[in-house]
Amino acid sequence: MSFEALNLHPSILKAIQEAGYTTPTPIQQQAVPELIAGHDVMASAQTGTGKTAAFMLPALHTLATPAQIRGRGPRVLVLTPTRELALQVSEAAKKYGKYLPHINVVSILGGMPYPLQNKLLSQSVDILVATPGRLIDHIQRGRIDFKRLQMLVLDEADRMLDMGFIEDVETIAAATPATRQTLLFSATLDNAIDKVAAKLLKTPKRIQVSSPKSKLDNIEQRLHYADDMSHKNRLLNHVLRDEKLKQAIVFTATKRDADSLADNLYAQGYAAAALHGDMNQRERNRTLTRLRNGGLRVLVATDVAARGIDVADITHVINFDLPKFAEDYVHRIGRTGRAGATGVAVSFASVKDSMHLTKIERYTGQRIASHIIPGLEPRIKPRFHNNGPRGTPNVTQKRKRAPFSGFDSRPGFGATGESGRNRNGQGARTIGPDNRGNSFRSNNGNKASYQAARAK
Ligand code: AMP
Repeated sequence: MSFEALNLHPSILKAIQEAGYTTPTPIQQQAVPELIAGHDVMASAQTGTGKTAAFMLPALHTLATPAQIRGRGPRVLVLTPTRELALQVSEAAKKYGKYLPHINVVSILGGMPYPLQNKLLSQSVDILVATPGRLIDHIQRGRIDFKRLQMLVLDEADRMLDMGFIEDVETIAAATPATRQTLLFSATLDNAIDKVAAKLLKTPKRIQVSSPKSKLDNIEQRLHYADDMSHKNRLLNHVLRDEKLKQAIVFTATKRDADSLADNLYAQGYAAAALHGDMNQRERNRTLTRLRNGGLRVLVATDVAARGIDVADITHVINFDLPKFAEDYVHRIGRTGRAGATGVAVSFASVKDSMHLTKIERYTGQRIASHIIPGLEPRIKPRFHNNGPRGTPNVTQKRKRAPFSGFDSRPGFGATGESGRNRNGQGARTIGPDNRGNSFRSNNGNKASYQAARAK
């Protein structure tokens, strides 16, 4: 099927062509005609399936016809659980709507200053992309007029449910005209989502694209139980020494942890660097270029920063911390096994993560086998999550601890810490060659000079 067959406005087709899209993705093929026909739609689709365009293209198509009702309020409202997603949606709206006349896209996000938002809302708005909490503030202050609203999109509704935003979403929906068209996108369509849909959608068309399971078949998923931070660090050291590992992405929960872990790995001699949202675009691009040209062996990243990385040589993804959401697990491990290659995804979990693991497994429809590395066995045995071939070592390894990890057990991975020194106050030691076989000696442990060296 071609985009032309979807009967979208020619200006939208021009923008799609410019974006380099040739064929609509399955979710676009199914959702766009239903939406253009005016139906409510509830669709299960993950990020990465093209779901943003699946609702944004019909939304823009609606906007190509002048509003029937006079006013300045939004004609399309997209609610998202996170600021990052809201920004991505706004970018998509601008990208696909660039050849339509005067599409004003406004983002209203928590944590941003009110005066600027008040100013943006005082102008004529076509598409409003918002996180629920802040939007409610503005609604209560009477700053938004929804009488022109034609389309309400709930993006990643399952996450909004998980994050406790659903009441807010319902309050917002109640402030919009009953004549609106409502779209709900969610990673999964389960009972809880059905209840939300029953309240907010009118006889919706249900669309399901293939589950994430099929996408993960070329990725071997492994689980290691870790007692504490120190144990995680030793496990990581072990995994990174695997000869089959060409390049790896290690995911941490926070930006700060990504920085500290990258510094510590660098101090150990790994060609490692961090990638996260606090870095400016130039720094991010430079790091990604190094990853692409093989200058980096280990990238330590947060979820948002690593989205969309497509590097064929990434053989391993390591969840140093488990992701908050099952959907992110799929995004993360999908960074390996690109272009038909096989990949390895290693997750570290504590016994407290059992419920979390169950959620991930339910989402992917796959079990993650737990592995034990001789010499690095967990002290605490998990009681609830015993699904893999426990006791079966995945890698042959001598029964001895890694000679030097450079980490200690407190959060923040501190032994080298700000000073870049290990716990004996010595500079970091040389550990090994980088991925190009170069002998890789770290300097005397000064963090500033690490960074200078890394910037080269
Ligand atoms: P999403 O699932 O909305 O996060 O989209 C994932 C990525 O797919 C984005 O980078 C889009 O630019 C891209 N994309 C969306 N639709 C298409 C398409 N029909 N062909 C190629 N890429 C697409």
